Amino acid sequence: MAKSPEVKLAIFGRAGVGKSALVVRFLTRRFIWEYDPTLESTYRHQANIDDEVVTMEILDTAGQEDIQQKEGHMRWGDGFIIVYDITDRGSFEEVAPLRSLLEEVKKPKNVPLVLVGNKSDLDHIRQVSTEEGERLAAEMACAFYECSACADEGGTVAEAFHELCREVRRR
Ligand code: GDP
Ligand code: MG
Repeated sequence: MAKSPEVKLAIFGRAGVGKSALVVRFLTRRFIWEYDPTLESTYRHQANIDDEVVTMEILDTAGQEDIQQKEGHMRWGDGFIIVYDITDRGSFEEVAPLRSLLEEVKKPKNVPLVLVGNKSDLDHIRQVSTEEGERLAAEMACAFYECSACADEGGTVAEAFHELCREVRRR
């Protein structure tokens, strides 16, 4: 039997956008309110995606790394999720620079990428519209999901991870 494919996924985005909450939601289907913000962790996870067992190694970055550490994480990864917080415009403005750095580090390779706008449960204090997220994703030619790590009714969080795995496998 062929060895099941392994993909290395790294999660980027400003501190506080909910990277750890999203990873924990994906792995446990639960929400944990407080997660050490300085912690950087890797997890292994197996999932059946399109009738194929895929092993993921997931790196949850802290979001406060210096440039050398960021570049190291980017070299390590096969695919990337960039997360912003829909209630924090500054976190949205950090997406494009992260993408540029990714392109720079991975060139001339195409970078499998998914854009996630998190905290969609906080629509009443939203600072970034869904359309802006969609437009940015179109510019970056990547998939886009708005989701909530704490109220993930439709399973959108898992969908984002699975789509990234597909994107990596397509390359
Ligand atoms: P990280 O620094 O990107 O890893 O962010 P964390 O996962 O530590 O989350 C930062 C804060 O945002 C914590 O207080 C979380 O409880 C909160 N948080 C994360 N995701 C959501 C979400 O989807 N909705 C809401 N309302 N809060 C969230
Ligand atoms: Mg974290």
